[in-house]
Amino acid sequence: MELATVVVASRNSGKVEEFRRLLAPLGWRLLALDEAPQGSATTWKEDRETYLGNALVKAVAAATSTRLPALGDDSGVEVAALGGWPGLQTARWLGDGATTAQLREGLQRKVADLPEEQRQAAFVCALALAVPTAGGALKTLTAEARVEGVLLASPRGRAGFGYDPIFVPAGETRTMAELAPEEKDFHSHRGRAVRQLLQLLGPSAT
Ligand code: IMP
Repeated sequence: MELATVVVASRNSGKVEEFRRLLAPLGWRLLALDEAPQGSATTWKEDRETYLGNALVKAVAAATSTRLPALGDDSGVEVAALGGWPGLQTARWLGDGATTAQLREGLQRKVADLPEEQRQAAFVCALALAVPTAGGALKTLTAEARVEGVLLASPRGRAGFGYDPIFVPAGETRTMAELAPEEKDFHSHRGRAVRQLLQLLGPSAT
């Protein structure tokens, strides 16, 4: 599939920055949602029961309003000892107005209550690419990946975004926020999901 301009269906600048890095080999002109025509008017409801469902909701909303191909991302962190919580609620479990720092500090407190050997967690990322076709319908491609690791009760590092300062991917001793950007991309749920999407897009995309 050959694409020129693609909108990232997200207002999270951390995600947009990562997509600009991860998708650079494709040579796409990647627009943040609010840079695209009608992008700032785009809204959606993240009310599906799967990450993929929510990623599709975002991609379809952005592709429909901008009439451009759009990439939706829905991510979450799952704490094994808490039955996979907060999962789909990762951005919202403290209520709608909570800042990223409040969410991270809240999760740190939950982690501090767990014995060290019960701090395993995974990050999950679902991606959906929605491409308007000549007939007006949308063609969609999806991918999903996870990275296992452990959570810390206190933050380390300044890179990345969100919960990166308290997540150590398996095989590492550093948090995601202590890794260089390309090291995070190598380990991360988003890096893995993008590499799956590139496989689906095939060699003509690069
Ligand atoms: P959503 O995908 O917009 O529903 O939000 C996902 C939540 O997970 C937000 O609170 C993000 O800050 C967090 N998140 C998503 N991806 C990452 C990541 O790569 N590192 C750290 N936190 C992340």
